[in-house]
Amino acid sequence: MQVASMHFKERASERLNDEVLRANLGKIKGKFVANRKRSLSELDDFEATRDAGRAIRQRALDDLDVWLESFEASATARGAKVLFAQTPAEINKLVLDIAARHGVRKIIKSKSMVSEESALDHAIEGAGLTVVETDLGEYILQINDYEPPSHIIGPALHKTKEEVAELFHRKHGTPKKDVIEDLCLEARGVLREHYLTADMGISGGNFFVAETGSVVLVTNEGNATLTTTLPKVHVAISGIEKIVPTLEDVATLMRLLPRSATGQSISNYVDILTGPRGAGEFHGVDHMYFIVVDSGRSEVLGSEVREALRCIRCGACMNHCPVYQNIGGHSYGWVYPGPIGSILTPMYVGLENALDLPQASTMCNQCGVVCPVRIPLPDLQRKLREREFAEDLRPWYERAAVRLWAWAACRPALYALGTRIGVRVLRTLAGPDGMIHRLPLFGAGWTTGRDMPAPAGRTFRELYAKRGGTSR
Ligand code: SF4
Repeated sequence: MQVASMHFKERASERLNDEVLRANLGKIKGKFVANRKRSLSELDDFEATRDAGRAIRQRALDDLDVWLESFEASATARGAKVLFAQTPAEINKLVLDIAARHGVRKIIKSKSMVSEESALDHAIEGAGLTVVETDLGEYILQINDYEPPSHIIGPALHKTKEEVAELFHRKHGTPKKDVIEDLCLEARGVLREHYLTADMGISGGNFFVAETGSVVLVTNEGNATLTTTLPKVHVAISGIEKIVPTLEDVATLMRLLPRSATGQSISNYVDILTGPRGAGEFHGVDHMYFIVVDSGRSEVLGSEVREALRCIRCGACMNHCPVYQNIGGHSYGWVYPGPIGSILTPMYVGLENALDLPQASTMCNQCGVVCPVRIPLPDLQRKLREREFAEDLRPWYERAAVRLWAWAACRPALYALGTRIGVRVLRTLAGPDGMIHRLPLFGAGWTTGRDMPAPAGRTFRELYAKRGGTSR
């Protein structure tokens, strides 16, 4: 997928003015956030389960080389082939090589974010083969000229029912429908034909299990089950960080993943696939491949933001993020949006190509509070901000302003005088409603998409002293 993260500010500004998008994003609170809250209330050991989930993911990352070798040995023993891709280009090459080896003409795919990193669909089509996305959201985006996904679990979440109805009417040549169930049935009818005629199925992988050499797929539509069992070849693609040591670990993580993602106690389908069809088995593929992808992950593992690799892609951090809730996923300009994307994207595509993403945070820590594997997302964003300053990647005026602030902050009397002047000036900018609608100069960005409550006109220390408190 082409990187557009360097245009974050422009893209975010455009989307702040997109009323339809903002109405669609409002669905997140009513759906994912409310459902998560309800499903967590059923558990009395959620915090302990989070600790266990964190420990499982950290244990896997701490000895990743060992677990990868163990996974390779287990999967190979069950008849699968394990291949490693260092770069996005290598993912595409490996897939096309497998397709050529087995005479594949048509490929069906269930959702795979890693394949978005390498623009795999375009590579497949470029090689003259047919590829069909089978996840409903991904299918909608594919037939809309490969629109990029905007959310890691709801890729077409930004679209209205009416937009999808119009798209299906145009692309399928069918009468326009206005009931969601009818639209789903229409897509199901179109996709069913592809399941039955495809030569190869590609899936992602929520987890790769070292103990058994299995891939675990967590879905709600059943498309992954059909994609990975009906064609003669199955290729599962996922990152090196998706290894977990044992099936028991998967059971623990499954208590966290659907609840944090959609608020379900369990997703509709959980597939655990281990090797191709064995002798005497009825179901399964003839050939099974794993493509285990590095593509920048080793570098993350050796960096100050390594904890981001614990991510199990539940989407809770973006669902609860006030920035994501207002600008949507496309603003982030690459595969992974929201708080986790603002860490992973700069690491995978280069900090210099995604300079504004670590800044795309209010540091409110909503993301850190809801993350089921306790990734300290604001801390990691701050570490990337520090790196941007250390490497002189921020504009000169920002660096000068921070230096000036640091200089003043080390001089309490001067700092107190500055804040006393600052709150009084800001107070004069307030409208009759007590809100600041437009800040001048460098502060303009703060009020482009929202109003800012004006300060009281006195500093906290002044108000505190007025009530008889003393400050040091
Ligand atoms: S960072 Fe945490 S909350 Fe965000 S997607 Fe990953 S696991 Fe979920």
